[in-house]
Amino acid sequence: MQKKTIRNIDVNGKRVLLRVDYNVPMENGRITDDTRIRATLPTINYLLKEKARVVLCTHLGRPGGKIVDELRLTPIAERLAGLITKTGVIYIQESSGEHAAATISALQPGGLALLENIRFEPGEEKNDLEFTKSLANMADIFVNDALATAHRAHSSTAGLANFLPAVAGFLMEQELHMLNMILNSPEKPLAAILGGAKVSDKIGVINKLLDIAEVIIIGGGMAGTFSKALGHEIGDSLIEDDWVEFAKNLINESNNKGVQLLLPSDFVVADKFTSDANSQIVASNSISSGWRIMDIGPETSKIYEDTITKCKTIVWNGPMGVFEFDKFKTGTINLANKLSTLDQATTVLGGGSTGEAVRELGLEDKMTHVSTGGGATLEFLEGKELPGVISLLDTD
Ligand code: AMP
Repeated sequence: MQKKTIRNIDVNGKRVLLRVDYNVPMENGRITDDTRIRATLPTINYLLKEKARVVLCTHLGRPGGKIVDELRLTPIAERLAGLITKTGVIYIQESSGEHAAATISALQPGGLALLENIRFEPGEEKNDLEFTKSLANMADIFVNDALATAHRAHSSTAGLANFLPAVAGFLMEQELHMLNMILNSPEKPLAAILGGAKVSDKIGVINKLLDIAEVIIIGGGMAGTFSKALGHEIGDSLIEDDWVEFAKNLINESNNKGVQLLLPSDFVVADKFTSDANSQIVASNSISSGWRIMDIGPETSKIYEDTITKCKTIVWNGPMGVFEFDKFKTGTINLANKLSTLDQATTVLGGGSTGEAVRELGLEDKMTHVSTGGGATLEFLEGKELPGVISLLDTD
């Protein structure tokens, strides 16, 4: 079902509560990556141009329902002010109460305000009815542009839709369009590349992909569990013993369903989990005790690159190795570079660390879409209904 967007509703003069996800990475009080803020600018600028009175609402970190000074939105307000110079932004420093409501009432059409970290409010994550009503009283329209938090049923992500007309912003619209395309109408063959730390995080999405993908490619820490399922020794590699049986079944099921399941044939292994560990390249069935999987090996990289070259749609979630350490980022870099050259294919990346890796390489613009969501993107691809999405109004 298609969801209504800000194009389908009259926002002129209206108080628009715009839920964004500005849960940006910070170091010593400074924003280290403002992608999530920039990604919402088309929505903000459109609403301002249409003379809405725009109130931004986001969380930052996990303050757990109380005020945590380090998690105040001051750096975000400053960054916004630098990006939206014409209008500026009024930083309210509260997210409920009389002062917040009065400031919003006084906003001029085409004006912009930012509420304080919404997770300072004890009612937010509980989706508390009274708190949701108090938020709703401060606005006329609810716009959700935060796919990354849409898997949570909180007051500002879903609850508000019970009280206000709720529509998608442009970022949410684009995310839903790309993810729906993967699920419902991908150009074939469809390849899914799955990496990252754990199999257990990806079970749902793997099950779904077995039904829609022609190729499933496995890398990252989760490859250890699959290697074990094949009967190989994996030394000190990350292992989820409870999921070895699942991995075995998946290998069988992919055979039965005619899905090509690719597992690493070689690995870069290390003698400890550090950036300066000793490392070597070994066949996947020859890991000695005391060594651990840190990256896919060169032969595997080559096979994976050749395979995706033949695919028309590629979805990628999770790095191929411990990309935070220079020595173990080659598999992830190789794959990202190859993806960036596939002009004829649709390439969709999801998950925080995959986006981070590609951004670090300066390749984000070469991908069709890099989702701002992590867990939410995975849940969507599993086929789950996200509270922050189903609560939006359907088109007629
Ligand atoms: P995820 O959030 O599930 O995408 O996982 C990303 C994390 O997986 C990154 O921090 C990587 O360092 C980690 N990772 C990737 N490969 C391995 C590996 N072979 N062993 C341990 N951790 C890994």
